[in-house]
Amino acid sequence: MIAQQREIVILGGGPSGAAVALGLQKLGYQQVTVVAEARPFRAMEGISERVVEGLRGAGFDHALRKLPEPSARFVTWNGQSNQANTERLIDRAEFDKALMMDLAIQGIHVIQGRVVDVKSAEFGHEIEVGTAGDPIILQADFIVEARGRAAPSAKLKRLRGAETVSLLQYWQGAELPLSSAVQSFENGWGWFASDGRGRRYLQLTFDVKSSVLPEKSRLVEFCNEKLETLTQAQPFLDQALPTGEIHARTSTPILCEEAIGDNWIRVGDAAMSVDPLSGNGIFQTLSSSLQAPAVINTLLAKPHKARLAQQFHQLRITELFYRFARIGRDFYAMEEQWRDQPFWQVRRQWPDDQPIHLDPDIDQVQVAKRPVIQNGFVDLADVVITPDQLLGIWHLSGLPLAPVVELYKQHFSSGAFLQELAETYPDPRQQQMFINWLKQQKAVL
Ligand SMILES: Cc1cc2nc3c(=O)[nH]c(=O)nc-3n(C[C@H](O)[C@H](O)[C@H](O)COP(=O)(O)OP(=O)(O)OC[C@H]3O[C@@H](n4cnc5c(N)ncnc54)[C@H](O)[C@@H]3O)c2cc1C
Repeated sequence: MIAQQREIVILGGGPSGAAVALGLQKLGYQQVTVVAEARPFRAMEGISERVVEGLRGAGFDHALRKLPEPSARFVTWNGQSNQANTERLIDRAEFDKALMMDLAIQGIHVIQGRVVDVKSAEFGHEIEVGTAGDPIILQADFIVEARGRAAPSAKLKRLRGAETVSLLQYWQGAELPLSSAVQSFENGWGWFASDGRGRRYLQLTFDVKSSVLPEKSRLVEFCNEKLETLTQAQPFLDQALPTGEIHARTSTPILCEEAIGDNWIRVGDAAMSVDPLSGNGIFQTLSSSLQAPAVINTLLAKPHKARLAQQFHQLRITELFYRFARIGRDFYAMEEQWRDQPFWQVRRQWPDDQPIHLDPDIDQVQVAKRPVIQNGFVDLADVVITPDQLLGIWHLSGLPLAPVVELYKQHFSSGAFLQELAETYPDPRQQQMFINWLKQQKAVL
């Protein structure tokens, strides 16, 4: 059952908007329109293999074919240098174009234009789109806010980390192989990349409150003075000159604490944006966007389950945000040379002091009803809650976990658990999988 006749308009055509569009189409929604304006600036970004898997899962076949091979990533952090990792460097203008091509190939209606105004009421939305020709007015039953960090805050409650700005400069010169580098410094960190064709991207990230940044006309000079002091930047400056352009990107971590209503949802960076240090922005964006179609489907086709769907979306956004915020915090804490400088002091403590992973404890493992995605809808199911997985684990390799935990709790003290497990799951590989999981939770078997 889907609410086929509903008009859904997606505002923004980055990875989140595009992933939601494909997901809705898979659920059978035909009347989906994406309104996308190309990014107003050029940027390179690095993605991991997890993002590649996410893109594959979402169905971005064309964009996947355009991805470059992984390239070297050099790091100097806490005074130590290594070249242990690789990442795939994407030109965001080209990547976003490839995403839109995927939508076009799969028959999704894309309007190239700028969302100028959105008027929302309980029963629908009116969207004004500025295009190369006359403005267009679209009517929608449901809107997906996917305009990234550019999405209006709409007076929604937000949690913000330390205010952060990234100054992105372009240099042009001789061809340099695709590569990237990261380096920390006293009052921030830099990320440098080459596109393999002579263009180099030099990005310096600072704390807004404690940094004394010069006025705009002196920014390029200011950045160049800093770049001269950074060893990892040198290969990217070699045989090249600054183009004189500079672009300031806000990179403050922001969680929207009201990311869903009855006829709208925020996804990707519009719902929560993480610190770019984690290099996980597109990953988290895809994570929140891949679940959104089922949430929307529930709101439209099963409004009696709306609260459950809303709870599911908000909880997952919040959980993901804190997980990445803590990963970022621990990475900042690894830099000890300037631990008392304001940039590092604030970030090594935010958002809290909770470890990324909590220790397993079988006595705290319990079964509870929580929202999950089932057959394209959000529904309640028995899941297993552990100290580290507060949202619950539903399945293990496709098999429900809750009945096994119930079995364990019921039969552990009598010593009959393994026999009961063998009777319920005759396949020894399945038994072993559950036993291994229970042992990881510190069960003694
Ligand atoms: C400095 C910095 C560096 C980063 N580096 C990395 C990195 O290396 N790796 C990584 O994975 N992530 C990185 N990120 C994060 C990454 O950019 C985002 O997480 C990701 O792009 C979010 O996807 P999205 O679809 O939600 O938003 P976006 O990608 O921002 O897409 C939003 C789209 O909406 C369009 N739009 C905006 N306003 C309108 C409007 N009014 N009308 C129509 N269209 C509009 C925009 O042009 C854009 O195409 C970085 C972020 C920052 C700030």
